[in-house]
Amino acid sequence: MISSVRRTFGGLVWPVYLVVCALVAVAYFAIPENDATNPLRIVLYCGISASAVPALLYGLRVHRPRWRLPWLLIASSQAVYFLADTSFYTAHYLLGITTFPFVADVLYLAHYPLIVTGVLLLIRARSPRRDLLSLIDATVLGVAAALLSWLYLIKPLTSGTESGLTTAAYVAYPVLDLALLAVGLRLLLDPGPRPPSFFLLVGNLLAFLGADSIYVLQRIDGSYFAGNFLDALWLAGNIALGTAGLHPTMAALTQTGPGRELNLSPLRVTMLAAASLIAPGILVLENARVSDGYVNAIAVACAVLFLLTLGRLVVMVSEQRRLAVTDSLTGLHTRRYFEMELPKALGRASRARTRLAVFIVDVDHFKSINDRYGHPVGDRVLVEISNRLREVVREGDVLARYGGEEFALLSTDVADEDVPAIAERLRLAVAREPVVVERAEWIAVTTSVGAARATGQEDDPMQIVAAADRALYAAKAEGRDRISVGERPVAVTAVDHTAALGYLHSVSDQVDHYLSSHSHGRAVGSYARVVCRAMGGDAATVHNTELAGRLHDVGKIVIPESVLSKPAALDEAEWALLRQHPDHGYHLLRSVPDLHEIAEIVRQHHERWDGKGYPLGLAAATIRFEARIISVCDAWATMLADRPYRRTLTVDEALQELRDGRGTQFDPAVVDAFLRLHADGEIHRLPPLLPAKS
Ligand code: GH3
Ligand code: MG
Ligand code: MG
Repeated sequence: MISSVRRTFGGLVWPVYLVVCALVAVAYFAIPENDATNPLRIVLYCGISASAVPALLYGLRVHRPRWRLPWLLIASSQAVYFLADTSFYTAHYLLGITTFPFVADVLYLAHYPLIVTGVLLLIRARSPRRDLLSLIDATVLGVAAALLSWLYLIKPLTSGTESGLTTAAYVAYPVLDLALLAVGLRLLLDPGPRPPSFFLLVGNLLAFLGADSIYVLQRIDGSYFAGNFLDALWLAGNIALGTAGLHPTMAALTQTGPGRELNLSPLRVTMLAAASLIAPGILVLENARVSDGYVNAIAVACAVLFLLTLGRLVVMVSEQRRLAVTDSLTGLHTRRYFEMELPKALGRASRARTRLAVFIVDVDHFKSINDRYGHPVGDRVLVEISNRLREVVREGDVLARYGGEEFALLSTDVADEDVPAIAERLRLAVAREPVVVERAEWIAVTTSVGAARATGQEDDPMQIVAAADRALYAAKAEGRDRISVGERPVAVTAVDHTAALGYLHSVSDQVDHYLSSHSHGRAVGSYARVVCRAMGGDAATVHNTELAGRLHDVGKIVIPESVLSKPAALDEAEWALLRQHPDHGYHLLRSVPDLHEIAEIVRQHHERWDGKGYPLGLAAATIRFEARIISVCDAWATMLADRPYRRTLTVDEALQELRDGRGTQFDPAVVDAFLRLHADGEIHRLPPLLPAKS
């Protein structure tokens, strides 16, 4: 209850504070200055100065920044400052004391170490890693300011006839102001977060530094009088500090910065250039009176050389940046760029009230492509995949190579219902046709795609990438070559595929017909069913194994009959053609909804336990269980059928072949199960293979 009240009204505290202080400041200037009104004016002025202290302490209590010490130091500096103000104005207006230096000056000078330390600690909390670039930039600006201060504030102050103490006090102000300016610049240039509270604090420092510098100048030429326009600057600085403490973003100030990009903003380059031109500029101006030609020439050359050096730096940085955000192999953006863009895109999306989505595309079984064809071919496949993905990505969306064979897409302004369609477009872009490398060698490449939508509630932008990654994992677990959105694989729209399946059966029979063993597919299907059941497969697995066994050679329909039924041994090129049939079968079956599982099993039925099979070169348990069963059953049926390229073996010879292939070609457990079933007579009980074509 209390906390909800605090939340509701807590947001109102800082605007109320700001308005009240502004009204008090207006009253301070509106009240004419005379002996009767001066006490009230002092109360109003010092009241504002004092108010920043409780404002900071209240902010600390309510907003709970991670690190309190910097704020406590700033608050105590302000308390000392308030005491200094009180003693200064009391001495001036009420007691008529204008001695310099006086008690007030001791207090004013004492506040510097506190605020400088406070701001330094704040900088440390914001960028714990040493940020040399900001340090150098701040030093460039600081050196320029130090030169100006030395020439126009410190030096004139020391050349007077005042006593040593007075001069020391005079000089102490600009010197300490320089220290404060140095840390202020460092704060302004550091890569930490910049919420409103940050600008209020920087505003406080600028107002004080500006007013102090003018104050010293006016002291030098004797034009200062208490209550002049400088009071407005000091008051504004005090109000800014109090507001900085009360503003809800005060805690964000001490958060670690995200590490801003390593680029030179035009503003920063201009500031650095201007600061660096101050020294040669002054040289020219000061020398104009003496008009000694060559000094001017040297100064101008200095300035030009400096600008050229700076220009070179800018070009170098932007070139470096371009390289850092471009992947050298594919020309896509790098992961680094993607991760830099993501928080910005999330910010833009939440402001524009649009949604964005992240897609992660991971190539399936890419390792086996490398293993089989070599790394250089793998690289070319990656380049081709990148090009295909690029073609289907909207302009303005960020496509990056996220890892070795992993791509990420950041898509902005997407309707929720479009997310699966975009994911599917990415998947199809790669899978739609095989990648052709080296004249005739073609490689069927598929990808799995995980997608996640931004909820708008992310604490950390990377949460959305993590969600897309989990979706990808789900798509992989479901069998690959599919999409998954928000951790659930998307079911393909259900359509009646009975006709298509019937047609595939007849295609499969047609293949068997070419191969002269009419019932090969059916036989493999029945063997596979029995073996799978004996090995403990559940009903769905048994069904899939039988169906995949039935259709395992359907891809051979694409292979010319002259190759399929060639009586002589096949040559190299013909073998290459024949070896493509698992991939052809895979793509045929993939085109039928609901047969994705079957397609994957068919694709793997020529994989070998020792990893020497094709098309993927998978090994051992990475081959699907169903495919390992079909491999044994296919071999059995082939050995006992009369194929054009192989004489029929006797049953004993075929059994020996299975034993010989145990652990190399075949999964030992499947061979054992098959041999057991054979010994028990289970295999014989199945319908016999139809006689070969005569
Ligand atoms: P999965 O379907 O589970 O994703 O299987 P996978 O083989 O694709 O996955 P895995 O992460 O095991 O293997 C990724 C492979 O990608 C391993 C690595 O050798 C290969 N790879 C990574 N970067 C490159 C590259 O730049 N060029 C080539 N040629 N291969 C790469
Ligand atoms: Mg991977
Ligand atoms: Mg992969």
